[in-house]
Amino acid sequence: MKSDIRVCSAWQDVHDRPVYTLSSTCPECGADAENSAPAPLDPADPHGEYRRSLKRRNR
Ligand SMILES: [Zn+2]
Repeated sequence: MKSDIRVCSAWQDVHDRPVYTLSSTCPECGADAENSAPAPLDPADPHGEYRRSLKRRNR
């Protein structure tokens, strides 16, 4: 049985942390909410962003 808990699909752009909801859209920003369990987070994108900001700070 799968969970009904969904997570804001845009939380990495819009929020500081994952926003969980039981509805199909994020209650805070209105983006689509997707099932939190099966979809793995995209590893490349956020890490690239993170590394880029680290590099900027190191300079
Ligand atoms: Zn959201």
